Amino acid sequence: MARKTLVAANHKMNGTLQSVKEICQNLNNAQLDPNVETVVAPPAIYLLVARETLKKEIAVAAQNVFDKPNGAYTGENSVHQLKDSNIEWAILGHSERRTILGETDEVVASKTKYATENGVSVIWCCGESLKQREAGKTLEVIAAQLSALKKEVSDWSKIVIAYEPIWAIGTGKVASKEQAQEVHASIRKWLKDNVSQQASDETRILYGGSVSEKNCKELAQENDIDGFLVGGASLKPAFVDIINCKK
Ligand code: PEP
Repeated sequence: MARKTLVAANHKMNGTLQSVKEICQNLNNAQLDPNVETVVAPPAIYLLVARETLKKEIAVAAQNVFDKPNGAYTGENSVHQLKDSNIEWAILGHSERRTILGETDEVVASKTKYATENGVSVIWCCGESLKQREAGKTLEVIAAQLSALKKEVSDWSKIVIAYEPIWAIGTGKVASKEQAQEVHASIRKWLKDNVSQQASDETRILYGGSVSEKNCKELAQENDIDGFLVGGASLKPAFVDIINCKK
């Protein structure tokens, strides 16, 4: 089964009401490749305006959700409130949340379980630090992150994996196509060995880390790269060129 390319924008904690509206209108007006699924993740306060502004073909994602239905969890995002607002994706396990906010593999796995079991699809992020890569531990680190996820999750159909080497995020230092492909292929093999042939064949694996309109075409040629999670470049009009990288 061919995997549909997915390109997601992670705005992080950037933008204004005006700039989010402009980004959404720009995407609405662009000729986007119909073979690509596009997802936009603005800051929480702009989720609804993004949903109201974007055409329905473009999905919206929260940058975090909590693993409880509702209640006394100040500052958290409810999966059910997202669904109620037609927001059907969440980014979970981004390295900024893991390193700055202390989210462990287990916390990320629990949130992923809760979201996917309650109808919100997840872009689940993994990736190694520079120190781990230099120590030859890249595949080991990612396998440990995946193993924690597997303990919680049984239905992989609502999960998209984003491989984001931490050293490439926001640094302008993109992984080479060979480096990215090697890790993507090993994630696919891990899925085959530990989940199922179907999960291995059908799960989309995105690359994230300094993707731009200049480097996306080359990366997109690789067999196991099924799209991108884009930070900085998703705030610029050239994000359209990344969505259209296979056109
Ligand atoms: C990200 O935030 O997920 C990301 C990959 O950022 P950037 O594209 O800016 O490196």
